[in-house]
Amino acid sequence: MSIVVKNVTKLYGEQKALDDVSFSVNPGEIVGFLGPNGAGKSTMMKIITSFIPSNMGETHVCDLDVSKVPLKTKMRIGYLAEQNPLYYDMYVREYLGFIAGVFKIKNTAERIDELIEMVGLTVEQNKKIGQLSKGYKQRVGLAQALIHDPEVLILDEPTTGLDPNQLEEIRGLIKKIGSSKTVMLSTHIMQEVEAICDRVIIINKGKIVANEKASDLSTLLSSKNAIQIEFEKAIDEKALRNIAGVQSAEKQVGNNYLVQVNSEIDIRNQLFQFAIAQGTTVLTLKKEELKLEDIFKQLTT
Ligand code: ADP
Ligand code: MG
Repeated sequence: MSIVVKNVTKLYGEQKALDDVSFSVNPGEIVGFLGPNGAGKSTMMKIITSFIPSNMGETHVCDLDVSKVPLKTKMRIGYLAEQNPLYYDMYVREYLGFIAGVFKIKNTAERIDELIEMVGLTVEQNKKIGQLSKGYKQRVGLAQALIHDPEVLILDEPTTGLDPNQLEEIRGLIKKIGSSKTVMLSTHIMQEVEAICDRVIIINKGKIVANEKASDLSTLLSSKNAIQIEFEKAIDEKALRNIAGVQSAEKQVGNNYLVQVNSEIDIRNQLFQFAIAQGTTVLTLKKEELKLEDIFKQLTT
């Protein structure tokens, strides 16, 4: 296992930021660590990277206990922290040279060339970090995290604050890098998980609320499919709710209803017959599949 977290609890004073958290990440996986702001994502990542200790539980990275051999584990991990701390007055190459020195890397110039090529910094490599756009600063952050060729990458909200083009570029880059490494990335954006991750771990208020393959997540709550229907005239709401398979019918503007149905049953035909029986017609009828975003909302509110 690349990452094993066992019954980890973290307290900040009275506050439980992590409450008995357990999960593991397989070698080569890209796992999305998803949760609303304040859920405990950064705290968990700081514990995995041994920047802060936990109060209870154990954390292993590449079979090393992070609290017992912090320096050894740091050599195996690349970490892009949430605020991406960079020295704005340093030049890109100068900064990467400095980080290479920290990790005692040999053939520094060659390694920096390799990384600059890998993260797409060639055009900007001679600039000061402070002069770079946010997207390029993230690339410097990624190069910094990769410099010692770690097996595990921990990326804390790597795409926050990027414009749509930069977002796509950085996601593509993470996916490319992820093909040969274990990656755990935190995000509060559901689409990000769909775009790059094999698996998603959802955390809310310090507790894990889901741990699923990205493709399985949508079936998790599939019993909540809904139909959006608009009748031409007012209908008997009680009769609508009495149709077999209807779980609820919520009136919206005009004669629009959001009908929650049991997913096994397709009731579109019944709705149509119902309209006729009510002496009206159906103007629109739209099946609404529950999106990952709705699942996230349901699990975290
Ligand atoms: P996330 O990264 O998911 O937004 P964090 O791990 O940063 O969440 O924070 C989890 C909770 O712990 C929040 O309520 C936050 O206010 C609190 N917290 C984080 N760091 C500290 C700290 N150094 N001291 C006190 N409370 C903290
Ligand atoms: Mg955070």
